[in-house]
Amino acid sequence: MRGGKPYAPRRLQDFRLLPGVPKAVGALKRAGFLVVVVTNQPDIGHGLVPASVVQAMHAKLRARIAVDDIRVCPHRQDEGCACRKPKPGMLITAARRWKIDLRRSYMVGDRDGDIIAGNAAGCYTLLINRHYSEPRRAAPARIVRSLPAGVRFILAGRKS
Ligand SMILES: [Zn+2]
Repeated sequence: MRGGKPYAPRRLQDFRLLPGVPKAVGALKRAGFLVVVVTNQPDIGHGLVPASVVQAMHAKLRARIAVDDIRVCPHRQDEGCACRKPKPGMLITAARRWKIDLRRSYMVGDRDGDIIAGNAAGCYTLLINRHYSEPRRAAPARIVRSLPAGVRFILAGRKS
């Protein structure tokens, strides 16, 4: 994070997982959830990060966390693609690929774009409030303070 705004890591050695994340995702998997990561990587489109570095980060992620799929939008905002969040394109293609019922799914994210995409796709949305100093436009169904807290909520089945 720099200046109250989050930035994606650009070097493999800067890529870190937040505490409790592998354990929380493991609990979701044991409960029978399919776990799909959807990520905007515009630094690829801007030529700031080679796609191979992002792929290496995702390999590192998959080695630590039992995710079923990682879907990447590599485009710049001005390319106007259908996959870049806040558009729901990556959720829709993941649903098609994995036969996911989006209305029975959760979208967890820490940015407005995650929540807007999740709402557009019909998911129950959880915003992880990291107190980024960017204006908030999205309306999450629920605000939590961390991914593990969100996972506890999901596993308790307290969705309204
Ligand atoms: Zn895209």
